[in-house]
Amino acid sequence: MNENFIESTLKKEDTTFEVPLRPISLDEFVGQVNIKERLHIYIGAAKKRADSLGHMLLSGPPGLGKTTLANIIAKTMNTNIVVTSGPVIEKPGDLAGVLTSLKDGDILFIDEIHRLNKTIEEYLYPAMEDFTLDLLIDSGPNARGVSVKLNKFTLIGATTRSGLLSSPLRSRFSFNARLDYYDYKDLEKILTRSAKILNVKIDKDGSTTIAKRSRGTPRIANNLLKWVRDYIQMKNKNIIDKDIANLALKMLSIDEMGLDEMDKKIINVIIDHFSGGPVGVKTIGVAIGEEPTTLEEVYEPYLIMLGFLKRTPKGRKVTKIAYEHMGKIFPTNVGELK
Ligand code: ADP
Repeated sequence: MNENFIESTLKKEDTTFEVPLRPISLDEFVGQVNIKERLHIYIGAAKKRADSLGHMLLSGPPGLGKTTLANIIAKTMNTNIVVTSGPVIEKPGDLAGVLTSLKDGDILFIDEIHRLNKTIEEYLYPAMEDFTLDLLIDSGPNARGVSVKLNKFTLIGATTRSGLLSSPLRSRFSFNARLDYYDYKDLEKILTRSAKILNVKIDKDGSTTIAKRSRGTPRIANNLLKWVRDYIQMKNKNIIDKDIANLALKMLSIDEMGLDEMDKKIINVIIDHFSGGPVGVKTIGVAIGEEPTTLEEVYEPYLIMLGFLKRTPKGRKVTKIAYEHMGKIFPTNVGELK
């Protein structure tokens, strides 16, 4: 279980268990101060005009709160939210089904919007711009186009890879926000709030210990908290303090920087087999038995944020501080990496 804790946590669909932990208002939503301020203005102004919101794009690594924000926006606007995701919409008919079901002011949330196929994207442009859907009925000589008028909706797209979005699609969003990793102080606040909801006692040092190993990610913080809660239950303790949190987290092989077995494997493979890089992400994937997209979306952003890994045109390189963290000697002839 240790090796894939981070991955399974980040790829997991939210369980019903997690639902109560989701903040339901902007005030409860911790951190991301700049985005919250912009949202206050964007939502406030639309409400004053009694208008619906323009289309919005939320990007950033998994587990940082994109879905949560979309739900908060819908609640604040007092509108209905329809949730789907890029890979689920396979055919134009799927998109038509969703779009025609939307009522005036509804929010359509498309998660992983970078995974929409190009044909669907083309149907989406006029739908976003003029609220019309141009469909082709029949094929061959009988083919004819019909234009369906849609209700005015707001599309909220979420993506872990905003760089993969085509520029015509990106340019149709009037609000664009990138969520950043949280600092550990914000994660402490999230943990304190979640502990209260889960009815488990946690002291200051206990929450700091968990926060610092949560990779700047609320979803991981909450899942580590649940793990530690289970751990104290089995050890017949009634409060999460620093010592018990450390013992519980040790079982998951998450180190004090929040790195799990897979992170360490990635760094070690690049150091031991590719002299610290540069090496292509596909090669790394083959070497460690992991999908390149998972490496790019789940593991690399955090390693890059820590300054352990660099993306270069020739491939990935491990930096000096990563060598030091792994207790390895940095080869001095690779001076450019310092
Ligand atoms: P994403 O859509 O970016 O993958 P989610 O919105 O599903 O992430 O967030 C994962 C979980 O983390 C949520 O269920 C919520 O409990 C928690 N969470 C995320 N952001 C925050 C926040 N800013 N404050 C409190 N909890 C948060």
